[in-house]
Amino acid sequence: MHTDLQDSCGVFGIHAPGHDVARLTFFGLYALQHRGQESAGIAVADHGQVTVIKDLGLVSQVFNEQMLQSLSGQHAIGHVRYSTTGSSHWANSQPLVRSRNGDVIALGHNGNLVNTTELRDELLAQGVKFAGTTDTEVITALIAHEAEGDLLGAVRKAVTKIRGAFSAAVMSGNAVVGFRDPYGVRPLCLGDYEGNPVFSSETSGLDIIGADFVREIQPGEIVIADAEHGLRSERVELQGARPALCIFEFIYFARPDSVMHGKTLHAVRQEMGRQLWREAPVEADLVIPVPDTGMPAAIGCAAESGIPYTEGLIKNRYVHRTFIQPDDNLRQVGIRMKLNPLTSVIRGKRLVVVDDSIVRGNTTRRLVRMLLDAGAAEVHLRISSPPIQWPCFYGIDMATRSELIASYNSVEQVRDHVGATSLHYLTLDGLQASTGLPRDQFCRACFDGAYPIAVPEEYAMCKMRFEKGDAAAPCDP
Ligand code: SF4
Repeated sequence: MHTDLQDSCGVFGIHAPGHDVARLTFFGLYALQHRGQESAGIAVADHGQVTVIKDLGLVSQVFNEQMLQSLSGQHAIGHVRYSTTGSSHWANSQPLVRSRNGDVIALGHNGNLVNTTELRDELLAQGVKFAGTTDTEVITALIAHEAEGDLLGAVRKAVTKIRGAFSAAVMSGNAVVGFRDPYGVRPLCLGDYEGNPVFSSETSGLDIIGADFVREIQPGEIVIADAEHGLRSERVELQGARPALCIFEFIYFARPDSVMHGKTLHAVRQEMGRQLWREAPVEADLVIPVPDTGMPAAIGCAAESGIPYTEGLIKNRYVHRTFIQPDDNLRQVGIRMKLNPLTSVIRGKRLVVVDDSIVRGNTTRRLVRMLLDAGAAEVHLRISSPPIQWPCFYGIDMATRSELIASYNSVEQVRDHVGATSLHYLTLDGLQASTGLPRDQFCRACFDGAYPIAVPEEYAMCKMRFEKGDAAAPCDP
C-alpha cells in the first residue's frame, strides 16, 4: 500500500490485422493500469495512417465506446503512465508521435534513461525541436531522425545510443516493434493472440485478451512485426551488460498474477512471507496484510507460522490517486480514506502486520497509529523487502536518498519512528532465496547500492541530494 513508490509505466502493442486492435489494446492497458494511473493513450495504424488518442486519467476515463470504435486498424500500441509531481501534463502523456521519412511513428516507454541530457543536447545541435523534457521524447526523436533504413534499423541504432532502463513499444504506419534495454531492467513479454504477436509489460496484459504467453523479450532484443515479413527478432549486444531485472517487480510493482522468469509472482511473494517468519518469529494472535500488495506475503507468513490469517484493514476500492491529491495536512487523515481498521477483529490482539516496503516511513507510522488506536495490543511489522537505502535511477519514482527513512536510520530507529512493537525487514539473502533465481539476474540497487548501469555523476548527485535546498538544481535526467 503505497503512495510514495510508483512504477513509471506500462506498455502494450499488437499486430493483428482483421481484429479490433484498439479494443484489445484498451483491455491490455486495463490489466496494466497498476503501472501508471495518470495518463493513458492508444495509437492505431490503419493502412499506414496513424491516429493517437491520449489524455490524463485512467484508461476507463480516457476512452469511451465511441473513441474505440473510431480507432480501427491493423496494429496498435498503448501506454499507461505515472509521472512525477509537476510533470503530469498532457504533452508528456504517451504514446509520443513524430514524423519519420513521410511516415508517423508513435512510441510508449517504461523505464528511465540515464543519458537523456547528452542525447538531447546532440539532437538539439542537429536542429531537432522538443516539446517537453522527457527521456521518452529523446528516444522517439532518435528513432524519427534516423533517416536511413526501415523502422527496425532506426530502433537498432537508437538502442545502441540510449543508456538506462527501457522497455518500449513503437509503431509506424506498417510495423510494430517491441524492444528492451540490454540489461532488461523493466519487463516486456511476447504473446500470441490467435496467431498474431502481442507485446505487454506483464503477462496479465496477455491474459486479459486471451493471448498465450510465448516468451519474455530478451535483454537487448528488438522484435518487429509487420504484414510483409511477419515476426522478426534481433539482439543488440552491449559489452559488460548483464541481465538486471528490477527485483522490486517481484516484491511489489508487477501484478501477483503475472509471471516473470517462469515464476508466478503471487507464489514468490508468499515465499517471501514464509521467509519473513523464519527470520523473525514472534508470539502473536493474528497475521494481517496491508492490502492489497501485502496480501501474498501475509498468506505465506501465516502459513509458515500457523497463526490465523485474517483481514484487519479494509481497503476502500474507489479511492485513487487520480482523484485524491491530498496536501500535506490532508495526508494526515488521508490514510483513513484508503484503509479502515476492522476494530472488532483486531481489538486486544497481538498483530503481525505484513507490508511490502517502507519508503519514507510516514504512511507506515500513520498505519501503526491507526491500528493501535483501534485497540491492537501489539503491532509486529514484517516487511517483505529489505530496507530501501538507495534511490532508483531506472524508472521508479521512490524518493531522493534523503527521503528514504532507512538510508539514514537503523532498523531500531525506524521501528521507533513508526511506533511498532517490533519491526523486521526481509534480508536481502532471504529475498533472493524467495525468488528461487540467482542474484546476477537482478538489479537490487535500491537495497545494496550496486547499480548495474552506470549513472552519470551529476544525475546521481542530484537524485541523491540530502538537502531540500538543492531542489532548485537542474535535476531533470
Ligand atoms: S534500483 Fe531498485 S527499484 Fe530501481 S530498478 Fe533497481 S531494484 Fe528496481
